[in-house]
Amino acid sequence: MSTKSERACMLCGIIQPMKKFKAIGCPNCESLLHFASDSAQIAECTSPSFEGLVALGQDNKGSWVARWLRIDSFVPGLYAVKVNGKLPLDVVDSLERADVYYRPRDGTAED
Ligand SMILES: [Zn+2]
Repeated sequence: MSTKSERACMLCGIIQPMKKFKAIGCPNCESLLHFASDSAQIAECTSPSFEGLVALGQDNKGSWVARWLRIDSFVPGLYAVKVNGKLPLDVVDSLERADVYYRPRDGTAED
């Protein structure tokens, strides 16, 4: 499997091909981040650099790993354990105005 065009959403960690972000956006964050048809937004808010893969399915939604990654309320799919990079500050600000607290997935966040 080639991972060259795959990118991980910095907010939820889902991994999708670039073209899918461009076509339909992020299935979890589209209402907040508006990726569809916006290459600049995809470049800023998704990362080509990520580590560790977790497949989230209907059967493991309530699992410890899903809760640990805070993805238990997200759509089934492939998620990165760690996403390198951070959302731009103006994006973080607009998320906070929508009452969404951004927790970076690059390993710097404290629990
Ligand atoms: Zn997302």
